[in-house]
Amino acid sequence: MSTDVLVLNRNFYAVHITPWQRALSLVYLDHARVVDEEYRTYNFDDWRELSQMTANHPGGYVSTPSFRIAIPEVISLRSYDKLPVGDVKFTRRNIYEHYGYHCCYCGRKFGTQELNLEHVLPRSRGGRTDWSNIVTSCMPCNLRKADKLPVEAGMKLLIKPSKPKWRGSASLVFRAPFKIKASWQRFIDTVYWNTELEP
Ligand SMILES: [Zn+2]
Repeated sequence: MSTDVLVLNRNFYAVHITPWQRALSLVYLDHARVVDEEYRTYNFDDWRELSQMTANHPGGYVSTPSFRIAIPEVISLRSYDKLPVGDVKFTRRNIYEHYGYHCCYCGRKFGTQELNLEHVLPRSRGGRTDWSNIVTSCMPCNLRKADKLPVEAGMKLLIKPSKPKWRGSASLVFRAPFKIKASWQRFIDTVYWNTELEP
């Protein structure tokens, strides 16, 4: 039986991985809700009731003298103060959010698939990969700017690089390799987005 439970914050960002015993007690104490594949949430009583109606649960079941309950695979915290706080990590997601999913050159808004991270001072000229030199840009602007300075490319930065001032809820940064369960996948296809970037 695999024993880890993915913990999400209230916004459904993955923040933690915890043993199932702890996960169930968080739900029991009403600090967390169980999350199913349809993003529905359950309190302890609802989850226990649902557990009686299912014959097969991927996480397995735990039995007490009076009832049995399915072991959740994903839970979400109900309160912000249960979150780890930290500096805003230099991650793709945080960079995109910091610039509001705008291209910093043309100022238009894009989906994540259409945005790139762009070195204002090109890397080939010693430009750093940090908040002071990285902006988001759309593909056309990215191609046009290429390995030049904005001024050389005849472009202007509508949004200047800056470091976020907010202290976001620290999303879990996946450093250690571990087995990602299928049920976690939808919440952490964000591994890509939440991985701290190497300078
Ligand atoms: Zn653009």
